[in-house]
Amino acid sequence: EKPFKVTVIGSGNWGTTIAKVVAENCKGYPEVFAPIVQMWVFEEEINGEKLTEIINTRHQNVKYLPGITLPDNLVANPDLIDSVKDVDIIVFNIPHQFLPRICSQLKGHVDSHVRAISCLKGFEVGAKGVQLLSSYITEELGIQCGALSGANIATEVAQEHWSETTVAYHIPKDFRGEGKDVDHKVLKALFHRPYFHVSVIEDVAGISISGALKNVVALGCGFVEGLGWGNNASAAIQRVGLGEIIRFGQMFFPESRDETYYQESAGVADLITTCAGGRNVKVARLMATSGKDAWECEKELLNGQSAQGLITCKEVHEWLETCGSVEDFPLFEAVYQIVYNNYPMKNLPDMIEELDLHE
Ligand code: NAD
Ligand code: 13P
Repeated sequence: EKPFKVTVIGSGNWGTTIAKVVAENCKGYPEVFAPIVQMWVFEEEINGEKLTEIINTRHQNVKYLPGITLPDNLVANPDLIDSVKDVDIIVFNIPHQFLPRICSQLKGHVDSHVRAISCLKGFEVGAKGVQLLSSYITEELGIQCGALSGANIATEVAQEHWSETTVAYHIPKDFRGEGKDVDHKVLKALFHRPYFHVSVIEDVAGISISGALKNVVALGCGFVEGLGWGNNASAAIQRVGLGEIIRFGQMFFPESRDETYYQESAGVADLITTCAGGRNVKVARLMATSGKDAWECEKELLNGQSAQGLITCKEVHEWLETCGSVEDFPLFEAVYQIVYNNYPMKNLPDMIEELDLHE
């Protein structure tokens, strides 16, 4: 049977890490996957050298994942359309603000038998309301798309420290390709490593909602940490945040399952790891200690990487305003107001107060 040809779109901190994981497995299972994995790179020059050339000759992404050696069957390609030529599986892994442009460029160049997994954490909010990014990809490109999300700080996975993750995928009814279709076994073979344990489930909505919204909660944790309030305050933010994540799922994606939030790596475990050591928490902490705005802090700390919660909190605010539900999500709203309208962080406890003593 024809092996699956795989391309990873994206080469940032997580994009490069997942490309490493995927390339290791494609090399390890030649009967299932074609050995060469292409990684689309948004080209840039580093000290006069092209990033793709650095990756292809020195096997390191010196800008977004320094210090990690990449497998030699991982080939960096700056040409998006060329990178998906004859492909069977596309793994999307870019900061989500770039997805609409990438999809519009890919339109007409991806066959309907292609299957996709989105490793992005975020939503698409537009004329159609709030959409999962996997649904957006399906709609734009006409291909089935699942998701991968988990408690996965990229550098820890890249260093092969043990982590878990969740992949979610619905197997479609129609398949017009050669050989067999992508199923849960194929996806496990693609992503599971001795240091990266994969559970494959059906709940694409549940893992995507928690992956997107924990970034907003992490900003809240960063604010209280930066104010010097300690562990109790951070735990309180996470408790309220988990409640709002689950409520968001129940209200807007009734197909999502409550168990996913509690039991999967993509649920509460991702909330904990991101609030402990993610980029969103770091940016928010610096906002609190320096008084600088979010974008200055992101620029100063992240060397071109992005803190997705800053965009997601605005998208969530816009959606909640549209449907008149802002008051049901006081933490998400407080984070938005602090980031975009300079509300004082020290008022966070009052802004998310749930007790009504007069009732
Ligand atoms: P990143 O934050 O490292 O972003 C940098 C990437 O964005 C680089 O590849 C850069 O070339 C690219 N970029 C910059 N401008 C661009 C443009 N105009 N068009 C296209 N690409 C452009 O990215 P990441 O860490 O790989 O994150 C990708 C997704 O994975 C995000 O949704 C993130 O939330 C999620 N995620 C990240 C981590 C992590 O620890 N980094 C872990 C799990 C999930
Ligand atoms: P940050 O983007 O906040 O670093 O979170 C990474 C992540 O998604 C961990 O699972």
